[in-house]
Amino acid sequence: LSRRFEEEIGAKSPLSLAIKDNPERALIAPTHLDRYVFPSQFPMIIEEAKGSRVRDIDGNDYIDLSCGYGPHILGYAPEVAVEAIQKAAAKGAVNAMGNRAELDLAELISDAFDPLTNVVLCNSGTESVQVALRIARAATRRDKVAKFEGHYHGFTDQGTVSSWFVFSGEKYKPRPINSAGAQRAVTDRTVLLQYGHPSAIESITEHAEELAAVIIEPMPGATLDYDTPFLEQLRKVCTDNGIVLIFDEVVTGFRVHFGGAQHLAGVRPDLTCLGKIIGGGLPCGAVVGRPEIMEFGRTTGDPFRDVDERAFVGGTMSGNSITTSAGLAVLEYLGRHTDIYTDLDANTRRLIGDLKATTDERGIACKIKGSHSMFNIAFDYASPKLVRDKIAGTNIKASIALAYYMRPHGVYFPELHGLFLNAAHTTADLDHIAEAFGKCVGEMEE
Ligand code: PLP
Repeated sequence: LSRRFEEEIGAKSPLSLAIKDNPERALIAPTHLDRYVFPSQFPMIIEEAKGSRVRDIDGNDYIDLSCGYGPHILGYAPEVAVEAIQKAAAKGAVNAMGNRAELDLAELISDAFDPLTNVVLCNSGTESVQVALRIARAATRRDKVAKFEGHYHGFTDQGTVSSWFVFSGEKYKPRPINSAGAQRAVTDRTVLLQYGHPSAIESITEHAEELAAVIIEPMPGATLDYDTPFLEQLRKVCTDNGIVLIFDEVVTGFRVHFGGAQHLAGVRPDLTCLGKIIGGGLPCGAVVGRPEIMEFGRTTGDPFRDVDERAFVGGTMSGNSITTSAGLAVLEYLGRHTDIYTDLDANTRRLIGDLKATTDERGIACKIKGSHSMFNIAFDYASPKLVRDKIAGTNIKASIALAYYMRPHGVYFPELHGLFLNAAHTTADLDHIAEAFGKCVGEMEE
C-alpha cells in the first residue's frame, strides 16, 4: 500500500511514517479489501464511533471530520437518536401503512421549509433528487433539466452529468459524464450551466420551453458559499419561464441553518431536496416544496388513477419508523438547541483561522475556506472567475496526501471530500486538529 500511495500520489507514504513512529498503529489491516468496493483508495474500517471520534478495527482512535459525509451533525450515536431507534425497533419497524414518526417528521420538515405543503419521504438524497425531478416533469409536462457543472446530485443517470471534477493529465477537469453506463437518452436531456455566471441565465432562457427544472446546490460543496444575487436571478428566470427551481439541500438542509442554505441566502426555491441529517444517521431523503407543485407527486389515494398527471413515487422502506423516529429525534433536538448552529459556525471559522495561520506562516499557497460547519482545503489555489478554473487550479494530490498524513496524528480527513464539524467536536478536538495539521504540513514539505 505504501508503494502504491507513493506511485499514485507522488509523495512519501504517511503509512510508512506511521509505522516508523508507532509500529503498533497499523493504519489499514483488513484482509478482505478485494471483496468489496470502498469509496476510499486506502480505506479505514471502523469498529465503533461515538461523538466526534471513530475507532478502527485495530483500536486506533481518530477525531473524525467526515461526519459520515454529513449526516452526523450531533456527532456519532447521539443519545436522542440511539434511544429513538431502539424504541422504534422494539415496536416493529416497517409496515405498509404509516406510522406516527413519519407524520411528525413530515410535519416538522414542512414547517421548517414550506409550511402547509406535502412532503415525500424516501431513502436517500439520490432518491430525493429523482423524485423532485419527476415531479417537476409531471408538473410542467416538459422533459429537460438544467444543472450546474460540478454540482453533485447523487448517482442517478442524470445525476452523473458533470457532477464532479476528475484528474485528466496533470489537471483536475470537469467531465461531461462522470460514470460509464449512464443512459445517454437521459444524460442528453440535460443542459449544463456555470454557477454564478451570466451565461447560465442566458442558457436557461434559450432552453426555457423544454426545461422542466433547474437544479442547483445553493451552497455548492465545491466552493461552500452562496451567491444571493445569482440565486435571485435564477429565481426570476425560472418564475418568468414556468420552470421549477429545485434546491438540492441534501447536505446543507438542517446543517447550515435549521431552514437550510435557502434561509441564509434569502431565496426560496419551488422544491427542496433533503437527505443526510433528516434520517438521524439512517438512510433517508425528502422532497418538500410549493403545494401546487408537490400536488403532482401525491402518492396517497389510488395509484392507478391519474397516472398521466401524477408522478409515481414508491419505496417499501420509505418513511419506515426506525429512520423517521431517529430523524425526528435529531431534528427536534436541533429545533430546541438552535444555538448549535451559531457554535458550529464559530468553531468552523476558528479552526479555519488556526489552519490558515500554519499555511501563512510557512508561505504555502493554500485556500482554506468554509463556514457553518463545512470547510475545504485547497492547495495551490488561484482566484479565477469560473468555478471550473478554481478547481482546475488546485493541487488535488496534495489534498489527498494531507488526508492520509493526518491519520497517524489521530485525525480522519475524508479524501476528495469537504470536511464537516459536528456539535460533539470539543475545543480540545479543534486544538488537536490544528496542531496535527501543522505537523502534517511540515512532514509533507519534507
Ligand atoms: N445531493 C448532494 C448535494 C449530495 O452531496 C449528495 C451526497 O453526498 C446527494 C445529493 C446524494 O445523497 P445520497 O448519497 O444520500 O444518495
